[in-house]
Amino acid sequence: MTAVENEHSDPTDALSSAPAWGARRELPIAGKVKFCYGPMDCGKSTLALQIDHNLARQGRQGLLLVRHDRSGAPQITSRIGITRTAVEVESDTDLCALVRRAWASGRHVDYLIVDEAQFLSPAQVEQLGELADDAHVDVYCFGIATDFRSELFPGARRLFELADELQPVQVEVLCWCGLPGRFNARVRDGRVVREGDTVFVADTEGPARSTAEVNSVPTRAQSETATVRYQVLCRRHFRRGDLGPTVSHQGQLRLT
Ligand SMILES: [Zn+2]
Repeated sequence: MTAVENEHSDPTDALSSAPAWGARRELPIAGKVKFCYGPMDCGKSTLALQIDHNLARQGRQGLLLVRHDRSGAPQITSRIGITRTAVEVESDTDLCALVRRAWASGRHVDYLIVDEAQFLSPAQVEQLGELADDAHVDVYCFGIATDFRSELFPGARRLFELADELQPVQVEVLCWCGLPGRFNARVRDGRVVREGDTVFVADTEGPARSTAEVNSVPTRAQSETATVRYQVLCRRHFRRGDLGPTVSHQGQLRLT
């Protein structure tokens, strides 16, 4: 442990209510909370599984958590076909208690991988901070920053506030104009929708079963939901609601 040199030269010490010497002499090892964020289809889940793989190869043990995976099952599913079983986080799951239970069952937890982290509650994000600080768990969160209105999800907001590291995931998702795609536009009947239920996630490819309803989506007529899809746009075209020359892309899911 390295003592902090010249700590008494720190002019704020005189004003601090903390002891003149204290924890800073023996800095405790804290875990880190990292938030990797990007729009839909940018490869966040693939990166999550890659990081898990790398950490496991170093002999570290982790837990994979997911809140509302797009497959509808508790697993982390990447769009390139890799899947790993994960623990489903419910709206009232206490993440500290979850890790304590793992410990109690003899399972070591060095790190957590949390996919779809935008759907965590702010309180759950705070629990992740507690795990990092007090239990030295490294936490890797992956998720979307903003909803279809281009406003932060509450969980993402709390992660931006509390995370030690923020990393935009390398975006290879392009708007139809060629600029990096940054916003997930909700499209109904060929028009960008600006109002409605905040969370309502759909896959943008694959079979219809991959549609996941999130939180409480009110019942709506099938005819109304049948034409809802998502399209990633740059900021300019998101603002203008301009879906480009080909409004209907093959491979984009329609909610059924
Ligand atoms: Zn654009």
